Amino acid sequence: MRIRVLGCFGGEAPGFHHPSFLIDEELLLDAGSVTSSLSLEEQARIDHILVTHAHINHTAGLAFLADNVFGCREKPVLVYSLQEVLKDLKDHLFNDILWPDFTRLPSPSSPTLEFMAIPERVPFRIGDYTIRAVRVDHVVEAVGFFVERDGNALLYTGDTGPTDEVWRVARSMQSLKAIITESSFPNRYKAVANASKHLTPDSLREELKKVDPRIPIYIYHVKPQFLKEIAEELQQVTNSPIQLMEEGRSYQV
Ligand SMILES: [Zn+2]
Ligand SMILES: [Zn+2]
Repeated sequence: MRIRVLGCFGGEAPGFHHPSFLIDEELLLDAGSVTSSLSLEEQARIDHILVTHAHINHTAGLAFLADNVFGCREKPVLVYSLQEVLKDLKDHLFNDILWPDFTRLPSPSSPTLEFMAIPERVPFRIGDYTIRAVRVDHVVEAVGFFVERDGNALLYTGDTGPTDEVWRVARSMQSLKAIITESSFPNRYKAVANASKHLTPDSLREELKKVDPRIPIYIYHVKPQFLKEIAEELQQVTNSPIQLMEEGRSYQV
């Protein structure tokens, strides 16, 4: 699988985009920056979007993508997450107040977006991919995704504080080749990280004790204003091969 990083930060400014990862040019993980990073033609080619949770830095691009691809596609864009996450999106974003309800536009029988509720933990197929959604611990309903193709699996935890189940599933998966997880705040903001259910380099080190230490770790969701400080603190996390993700780069899994 080829993971193209459209955005990988926990904030937005020139050079820093919200989280969105394009797999093999066809499957999108989160939609924070999809419309600011891809051409209209590339946006219109996306058939499947996996959403970890409703927070707007992960979903704003979903609203703008719907607007952009309307009239350019034959079929709806399929948006997958837990029922609870899709309800959050419906109630708070696509509610005809903050944004039009593109699950009913241009018509209820032929909409721009179609929401697909998925079960927890149970593997399901999207084309050549096997997907598994596993709950993580964040301030809203949230999941991480295992995405597997041709015997190689990626775990994208999405936003999470200290958690267990996703790491337990990770330990059981022989095909796991890479993990994208977060480190949002520097260590001195531990209290803020705990309250908002995010990780710091210190709490990340503890989390990584729960998985095979040989698996490469890619860090996303760094708050841009703390990039330098977090990068220095991540150097102290030596129990796993770890690197900060870079926007615009592609990674092979
Ligand atoms: Zn979040
Ligand atoms: Zn976030």
